[in-house]
Amino acid sequence: MSARPRLTVDLDAIRANYRRLSAEAPGADIAAVVKADGYGLGLAPVARTLFAAGARRFFVADVEEADELAAILPDAVVYVLGGYAAGARDAFRGRRLRPVLNTPGQVRAFAALAPDRRPPAALQIDSGMTRLGVPVEAIDGLRHDLAGLELDWLVSHLACADAPDPGFSRHQRARFEAARRLVPHLPASLANSAGIFLGPDFHYDLCRPGIAVFGGNPRPGRANPMAPVVTLDAELLQVYALEGEARVGYGATYRAPAGARIATAAVGYADGVLRCVGNRATARLAGVEVPLAGRVSMDLVGLDVTAVPTAAAVEGARVELIWGADGLDRMAEAAGTIAYEVLARLGPRVERRYRGGG
Ligand SMILES: *Cc1c(COP(=O)(O)O)cnc(C)c1O
Repeated sequence: MSARPRLTVDLDAIRANYRRLSAEAPGADIAAVVKADGYGLGLAPVARTLFAAGARRFFVADVEEADELAAILPDAVVYVLGGYAAGARDAFRGRRLRPVLNTPGQVRAFAALAPDRRPPAALQIDSGMTRLGVPVEAIDGLRHDLAGLELDWLVSHLACADAPDPGFSRHQRARFEAARRLVPHLPASLANSAGIFLGPDFHYDLCRPGIAVFGGNPRPGRANPMAPVVTLDAELLQVYALEGEARVGYGATYRAPAGARIATAAVGYADGVLRCVGNRATARLAGVEVPLAGRVSMDLVGLDVTAVPTAAAVEGARVELIWGADGLDRMAEAAGTIAYEVLARLGPRVERRYRGGG
């Protein structure tokens, strides 16, 4: 047994979420976005679970991730969102990995490869996010190069799919429609997790969810339709029963009265419990919700466990930092960030454990 922090990943919940998204967009195929080590949960178990659930197309950030995934799932189709980037071109010489062509220069360079030396590719256009993708206005000038390519998807990405006002998403959809008229007959893909919940107009032929598969809420401000996937817990290394008043942690920012009990858990910002959640987030010990006490250290965090029965707040007990139906979103909220960042920052010391998936 290790005293290290532990992330428990419920593979059955991942499968249920994949199916839930398929049911939400019944006319579309559902790809899986598993960049950044499967949103921090561990690429191999996550990818195998999604493949078993029916996913055949996967999107990752770069060719290193793509190579890793192709080795895990030889029968999956793997797309590299980072594109046919200058530093990554050798990786596309076989037909195993497929680039998402993002710039006019990438389109031209890719078209210059011998047809039997290059895989099919997706073409991303920029519909308004100004992040990656060929500007709609540049498509006409690429007509000749595009005509020679084996393109399988026209892709774009929504900037505000999770916003309460769908105005910008509609604007992007209109731009996407304009691009589709310039590259007719290509199957289309626009929606991420939140985009799926914008309705059938946004589903097209292929959806690309990530965060919703991993339990994040694709409809912020409304009840989360996804099953929770992760719990994070850590071991208590020390418990104080205070005789007098005391201060807790760096900066002495938490004031504990005489009689309080303060515990120290073995998880810190090096593990992804962001420093800014000190004195803000809560944890759960023996079923009791308790406040984080003081600043988060690199490897440790303080908890005020006064409300927990003495017999349960002991060295060696495990405390949950992320738990329950909305635990991931609550942690993100306490950190002033989004569930994506909470997951992606889970550090290498966090032991990933997997439940279900059989
Ligand atoms: C990360 C990403 C996705 C998945 O987005 P979620 O909001 O996690 O569903 C889809 N498409 C692109 C281009 C992405 O970068």
